[in-house]
Amino acid sequence: AAPVPAPSAPASPGSRPPRILAVGSGKGGVGKSTLSVNLAVALARAGCKVGLVDADIYGPSQARLLGTEDRRAVAHEGRLVPVQSEWGVPVLSMAHLSKPGQAIAWRGPKIAGALVQLVEAHWDGAELLVIDLPPGTGDVQLTMLQRFKPAGAVIVSTPQDLALMDAARAVDMFEKGGVPIVGVVENMAGYACPHCGEVSDPFGAGGAEAAAREMEVPFLGRIPLDIAIRREGDAGTPTAAGNGPQAEAFADLARRVRD
Ligand code: ADP
Repeated sequence: AAPVPAPSAPASPGSRPPRILAVGSGKGGVGKSTLSVNLAVALARAGCKVGLVDADIYGPSQARLLGTEDRRAVAHEGRLVPVQSEWGVPVLSMAHLSKPGQAIAWRGPKIAGALVQLVEAHWDGAELLVIDLPPGTGDVQLTMLQRFKPAGAVIVSTPQDLALMDAARAVDMFEKGGVPIVGVVENMAGYACPHCGEVSDPFGAGGAEAAAREMEVPFLGRIPLDIAIRREGDAGTPTAAGNGPQAEAFADLARRVRD
C-alpha cells in the first residue's frame, strides 16, 4: 500500500514558491541529468534548501540517479508530495508516478500538464528548484518559459562542435524567453586513461568556454569524463555527495551558480 504522506503545511499566503533554476542542453546525452543531480546535491551540501524536478518526461532518469527508483510519489490535497532522497534533495520524476520501464507516449498538451504537476507540488520549504529539462527546445521548455519564469538557466554541453551549435540554440531560446543565462558548463571535458594516466579529449577541449565567450554568457567550468561519475550515477549515489576530486568540481560549480 502507498504510504500515507505526512500532512505538509499548506503554503501560507505569504510563503513564496521556490525560485527555479532550469538546466538545459541543446542535445541529449551530454550529461544534463548527471549535471543537474550533482549540482542539486552540491547546493544542498552547501546549505541551500533545494528540490529537483525531472522534467525529462519521456526519458526520466532522476529517480535512478538519486537512488529512489523504488519509491512512488503520492498526492496530498490535490498536489504531489516530493519523494525524499538520502542526499538531502527531495525529487519528483515521472518515474515516481509510473511503473518501472513503462514507456510514456503522450502528446504535447498532456506533457505540459505533467510538468505543471511536478513543479506545483508540495515544495514547501525549498528555496530553489533545479529543473532537469529534456534536451532541445520543445513543448516542455515552452511551457516552462510561459508558465514558470525561471530565475536562471544553466546550459550543459560537451566540447564538441555539434553539441555547441545546439547549446547556442538553447541559450537563444532562454534569452528570447527573458531568462538570464547563469552560464555554460562543459561536461565530458578530458579523459584520464585509468591504465596509463594519459589525458585525452574524446570530444575536444575548451570549446564550451570559447562558445560562452562568443555568446557573451558566463562560463561556469568543466567536469571531466570520469568513469566514477557514470558508475555512481548508475548506482544512485551521486558523485557530489562523496569526497572524491569530482565532488570538489561539483562543489565549485555550485559555488559559481550561487554567486
Ligand atoms: P543527458 O541528460 O544530457 O541525456 P546523462 O546525464 O543521462 O545525459 O548522461 C549520459 C551518459 O553519460 C550517462 O550514462 C552518464 O552516466 C554519462 N555521463 C555524463 N556525464 C559524465 C561524466 N562527466 N563522466 C562520465 N560519464 C558521464
